[in-house]
Amino acid sequence: MIVYQRSSALFQEANQVIPGGVNSPVRAFKSVGGTPVFVKEAKGAYLHTEDGHRLIDYISSWGPLLFGHAYEPVLAAVTERAKKGTSFGMPTELETQLAQKVVSMVPNVDKVRFVNSGTEACMSGVRLARGFTGREKLIKFAGCYHGHSDAFLIQAGSGAVTFGSPNSPGVTAGTAKDTLLAEYNNLESVKTLIDANPEQIAAIIVEPIAGNMGCIIPAEGFLEGLRELCDANGILLLFDEVMTGFRLAAGGAQETTKVAADIVMYGKVIGGGLPVGAFAARTEIMQHLAPEGPVYQAGTLSGNPLAMAAGHAMLSAIEADNKVFSRLAYKAELLESGIHSVLSEKGIAHTINRYGSMISVHFSEDPVVNFATAAAASGPRFNSYFHHMLANGVYLPPSAFEAYFLNDALSESDIDFTIEALKSWNP
Ligand SMILES: *Cc1c(COP(=O)(O)O)cnc(C)c1O
Repeated sequence: MIVYQRSSALFQEANQVIPGGVNSPVRAFKSVGGTPVFVKEAKGAYLHTEDGHRLIDYISSWGPLLFGHAYEPVLAAVTERAKKGTSFGMPTELETQLAQKVVSMVPNVDKVRFVNSGTEACMSGVRLARGFTGREKLIKFAGCYHGHSDAFLIQAGSGAVTFGSPNSPGVTAGTAKDTLLAEYNNLESVKTLIDANPEQIAAIIVEPIAGNMGCIIPAEGFLEGLRELCDANGILLLFDEVMTGFRLAAGGAQETTKVAADIVMYGKVIGGGLPVGAFAARTEIMQHLAPEGPVYQAGTLSGNPLAMAAGHAMLSAIEADNKVFSRLAYKAELLESGIHSVLSEKGIAHTINRYGSMISVHFSEDPVVNFATAAAASGPRFNSYFHHMLANGVYLPPSAFEAYFLNDALSESDIDFTIEALKSWNP
């Protein structure tokens, strides 16, 4: 049983000068209780905490670290680049090189704009959709998370759900009225909104495989149905691939589901662990963006050379080793079957959703297919599970509404260790 004494002390200190002691809410352990673990350094599949403990990491910085922590090719690219200057606010060739990579790897996009986060990518993608269609309303799904910009904080997943404030104070009624809420995996709920708002809906934004209410798999025909509804009604289909992009396949969920999106948003893996987001579309849409077109969007540090170098090294590594996706999916499958057999043996009701390497465990005996069914799972049981694993050297996402992110450095013996640790859980 590991204790995290120095982490607790550091958290107290952080609380004096940072709201809640963290710079992103889910890190604070509010939903699972206790105090967060502070990281000193990390390498490969392992985190080393300020308390001197080693943890097997199942969040990989919430996704970006596809090949594990301190991945040599990314480190080398960033350190080499840093010696030449860290920011110019002027064009560099690196931006074109990363854009070329994205365009070559991802279906249905001709041009890319780089930003600094997934939030920025989604916010800008929606503005572009509104500018392109000349319409104002947006359909999103309950439990899907698209970053913390105002228009999306209407029943957002993960952090926003964890804190029980899906409609954050500070989001105006004016903004909220333009975001219409549908139910994931329920095409009827989308049709109803479209019928009630004829020619007013600019875009439907969706996590093609949802990962911010745990992992939720799109039902057969759901994404295809959205595509058809969009085509029939002059609506743009926006895939938020911040989580799925470059994690499920080189072409993301567009590749694995074979459903084409009109605008695609990226983040996480695309920056290789540095702050990068991106949105991309075919030329016909992207030409509406400033300075080519009238839809404004900008950023002092957008296309930052260190971030572009990290992203370029990451996507190059993926291109050179496309098998990484099936290796990750295989590891997730091992984890799934291991957890399933231990929990079954203990007689603990559970549902494990997995799509490729995206996976999550819900303590529910019913299928988890949308936000309502995810929220119906047992929170207290998840918290007990989380803390048991943490006390035994395994770092899981500290919220039942988050998916696990595996990385390629994780070995089969790490997964065995994880399953062994679960065996001693006594809820
Ligand atoms: C993480 C995430 C975001 C937000 O990205 P940030 O870089 O945290 O702003 C948006 N959409 C999805 C699907 C995400 O998983």
